Amino acid sequence: MPLVSMRQLLDEAARGGYGVGAFNVNNMEQIQAIMEAARETSSPVIIQASRGARAYTNDRFLWHLMQAAIELYPEIPVALHLDHGNAPETCISAIDLGFTSVMMDGSLEADGKTPASFEYNVAVTKEVVAYAHARGVTVEGELGTLGGIEDGHGSGEVHLTDPGEAVEFVGSTGIDALAVAIGTSHGAYKFAQAPDGDVLKMDLIEEIHRRLPETHLVMHGSSSVPPELVEQINRYGGTLKPAWGVPVKEIQLGVRHGVRKINVDTDSRLAVTGAIRKVFAESPEKFDPRDYLKPARTAMQELIATRMRDFGQAGHAGDYQPLSLEEMRAGYAAAH
Ligand SMILES: [Zn+2]
Repeated sequence: MPLVSMRQLLDEAARGGYGVGAFNVNNMEQIQAIMEAARETSSPVIIQASRGARAYTNDRFLWHLMQAAIELYPEIPVALHLDHGNAPETCISAIDLGFTSVMMDGSLEADGKTPASFEYNVAVTKEVVAYAHARGVTVEGELGTLGGIEDGHGSGEVHLTDPGEAVEFVGSTGIDALAVAIGTSHGAYKFAQAPDGDVLKMDLIEEIHRRLPETHLVMHGSSSVPPELVEQINRYGGTLKPAWGVPVKEIQLGVRHGVRKINVDTDSRLAVTGAIRKVFAESPEKFDPRDYLKPARTAMQELIATRMRDFGQAGHAGDYQPLSLEEMRAGYAAAH
């Protein structure tokens, strides 16, 4: 099947009461790991690429690798999503390339660093929604800012999402999904200790979902940073500091309160690096890239398959017939 609208994936997830992992990719092995995990668990899936990933793959490699993915895994519904578009032009270029979903992150200005005004955020997000919905493409917006900086993106400041503003933002922009800032951060060092309710505001998600029951909520920075992966990296020569991520049970609580998309990047990076370091440390005589990229791919597949079961998307790949982007376009036109 062709790439599927992310909106449809999330609508189906809402109907089924589960969440869908959105996993970042930069290369062939990561795409293969995600698709194998999706087949293994029979999961619909969101594959996402940041601006950095698009630059790294020069767009064309990413696009053709995704074509190979849908050709080889025809039973898996896959959406291709732009993570943290910094400006309308970035989103439009992704849509023109064939992405079925984009994030317009107007919580920050186009430099990806300076916190933006509410009015700026509404204006740029609205512009992207008009262009995207006219083509059946999904839009995710963000209100509030996350901590942490990744790929040069982030203000380094946390501003929690205000539920009242969220209602106004969704009403003014018409977005399909809303990324909320509830105390999570990008990167491996999210919390200085195991997070409790003082740092991770799950009650804020409940409140936003109560006020916006039709809007799909998105949790960014939702890697769990498993201690065994950090330990493995350090055992084989890495120098990661002790790190805590978002516990899986907190994500599952979010899923019960309207979270439909869960962004995971750091955990995949840890799995890949841990596997490669192990080969380098244990078999320093090896120099064929396959000798370390194969175990890296397998480690990432195992991690993703676990997350797919954790989030509840496992077993749902065959639940529905994918709609074409043209059908999605007609649906948006009828709703506006
Ligand atoms: Zn993010």
